[in-house]
Amino acid sequence: MSVVIPVFNEAEVLTELWRRIKAVIDGAGEYAFRVVFVDDGSRDCTFGELERLASRDSRITAIKLSRNFGKEAAMTAGLDFVDSDWTVIIDADLQDPPELMVKMLAKAAQGHDVVFARRHVRHGETWQKKFFAHLFYRLMGALNPSFSLPADTGDYRVMSRRAVEAVLKLRETHRFMKGIFAWIGYPSAEVLYDREPRHEGKSKFNFLKLLNHAIDGITSFSTAPLRIATYLGLLVSFAAFLYGSLIVIQTLLYGNPVAGFPTLITSVLFIGGVQLLCLGIIGEYVGRIYGETKQRPLYLVERVVRKESDTETPSAQAVAALK
Ligand code: UDP
Ligand code: MG
Repeated sequence: MSVVIPVFNEAEVLTELWRRIKAVIDGAGEYAFRVVFVDDGSRDCTFGELERLASRDSRITAIKLSRNFGKEAAMTAGLDFVDSDWTVIIDADLQDPPELMVKMLAKAAQGHDVVFARRHVRHGETWQKKFFAHLFYRLMGALNPSFSLPADTGDYRVMSRRAVEAVLKLRETHRFMKGIFAWIGYPSAEVLYDREPRHEGKSKFNFLKLLNHAIDGITSFSTAPLRIATYLGLLVSFAAFLYGSLIVIQTLLYGNPVAGFPTLITSVLFIGGVQLLCLGIIGEYVGRIYGETKQRPLYLVERVVRKESDTETPSAQAVAALK
């Protein structure tokens, strides 16, 4: 079993996190565990803490990325590194209770490749976040009928080897992992839990970051917005045609002098807005094409720390494992 944990500026939760994970993996004696922390370029003393933990317990591996690459890349780095039969992904902030892992692994053993944790209560989150999250999941569901993005799930999940390998085949730069996890298919099941508030510190995602993440999610899995732009164009043209006809009829039949300025300025602004919106939509996709064509690596590893070998700059072997 491997446990992959992306961490970014989480120094104050690590001791408690490890205490709880250790209790869980000590209790699940029949499995051999390895815990892989991926430090996503933290600016506090997170990596120092990880080194300290890793020096005490050989089950811990700490990977330090060369800078902050984002949670999706950090998770990918962890998944690239592990080679276990089963892999658990869990957040560092203890919003995902490690104790649930046992239940998830048991469920996975019943023949599911993916078991994800689904929250029925979101504690410590604002109603705006809940509202927009709800909206986002509904929208994704409507745009992608071929696979369903489970609502109210984070990245907390257990995956079989073949599910991890499938996920790693998708090397796209604009990574929306929740979508990727759903895209692979394979039998999956859910385990319900209550999501706790953060143990310490505060969320690393503000509204703008989440909005960008949502746009990443939609554009990574659907070209429907492009089609919406087409329909919007058709609709506006049709409305303009109707309105034009109306003016002609009014002038010819009733001799109405048509008021110019208000109608003109309104329609010019309206058309301008629609055009900019559609250009923006196209721009989103062009930007993604640009990002993908560069084929940059998703992350770079600075150091890997484990107990056996103390500190090492990534060996040829580790680099090969990390691709
Ligand atoms: N995280 C990361 N890189 C980032 C931002 C966050 O690795 O750039 C990690 C973070 O340390 C935590 C997890 O991703 O383990 C979830 O972050 P957070 O709890 O801030 O998100 P939220 O629960 O508010 O969605
Ligand atoms: Mg959190």
